[in-house]
Amino acid sequence: MKARFGLVWSLALVTMGGLPAPSIDSESSTQKMTDPGTHPIMLVIHGGAGAIRPGRLSPNYEAAIRKTMAQALEAGYTVLKRGGSSVDAVETVLTILEDSPLFNAGRGAVATTRGTHELDASIMDGRTLSAGAVAGVQRVKNPIRLARAVMEKSPHVLLIGEGAEQFTQRVGIELVDPSYFEVPKPKERSETKSPADSTQVVQEAKRLHRDRLTLGTVGAVALDQWGNLAAGTSTGGIPKKWPGRVGDSPIIGAGTYADNLGCAVSATGHGEYFIRLAVAHDIDTMVKYQGLSVEESARRALEKVARLGGEGGVIVLDREGHFAMVFNTPGMFRGYIGPDGRPVVRLYREVEEGQPHASASSHEKETSQH
Ligand code: ASP
Repeated sequence: MKARFGLVWSLALVTMGGLPAPSIDSESSTQKMTDPGTHPIMLVIHGGAGAIRPGRLSPNYEAAIRKTMAQALEAGYTVLKRGGSSVDAVETVLTILEDSPLFNAGRGAVATTRGTHELDASIMDGRTLSAGAVAGVQRVKNPIRLARAVMEKSPHVLLIGEGAEQFTQRVGIELVDPSYFEVPKPKERSETKSPADSTQVVQEAKRLHRDRLTLGTVGAVALDQWGNLAAGTSTGGIPKKWPGRVGDSPIIGAGTYADNLGCAVSATGHGEYFIRLAVAHDIDTMVKYQGLSVEESARRALEKVARLGGEGGVIVLDREGHFAMVFNTPGMFRGYIGPDGRPVVRLYREVEEGQPHASASSHEKETSQH
């Protein structure tokens, strides 16, 4: 079965006039895996940027967000600690966040003007510069898993809509009824067990996403023991988007990018601006070619977004474990976990939260452009 599958893709390559995969360009071909344990593991995540200020969220909702993000960080940390790859960690983390109804990705995806849910996701491996993405899928439970399958089990980078959904059958990825993405109805209230899933909290999440107070997209960047970077992003897009609209999240170079020679980036915000400025790749090139820090590169990229009138944020991580979480909105759900295994989750501006800066070995930056 597996051999037949491989043959199908080989034939597809030939019939499309393609050649066997070319060797990876000089940037990535020079990269070598280093010994395990020689790199500090690091994982940084976001759960969307927005007009999130202290006091605006109910205590239950805030607690649920913090708890889910900490759980995702711990799960990703376990993968990295056990020697898993950065790609494994990104997939693990984003699958957890997609399964939570609190974020605008997977289960909690926002609706289009037509009331449908069209989900986008992408993932990139900084070691090989391989990438996979899906856009406009309506029945895929975990778009990030399908994006990874596109990266690893197809010769393509981006699959959309129905074709992407058909590809799930080849790679054994779960499809769900479109009603899975709808807001739970009141009668379901008694069935919910965990406070993180209580209908009230989920309704609040949906309201915040619909009113664009929080955007709720999820993203992760990871560094594994072998010094390899990966990035991934998953979203339901912008609320009330036109059916067929695709944002930056599944666009490699806009919402997601990873290169061991530069950095790993995941973005959140008004996707149209991030596409126009190729934000994720822009940050990578500043790190790679100009030698700027992840923090400075992120700040400069977001300044360009702001100059065009856009808002959002990015998480950026380099091969030394330096990271930045930069946004030009009042808040961004975000967090990180490093070699000490202690998850840190933040929602608002650091100063407002009264929390100390990240440790000296890590860089965290929150810029205000208002
Ligand atoms: N960037 C996403 C999009 O434009 C939305 C978000 O980050 O929340 O689709």
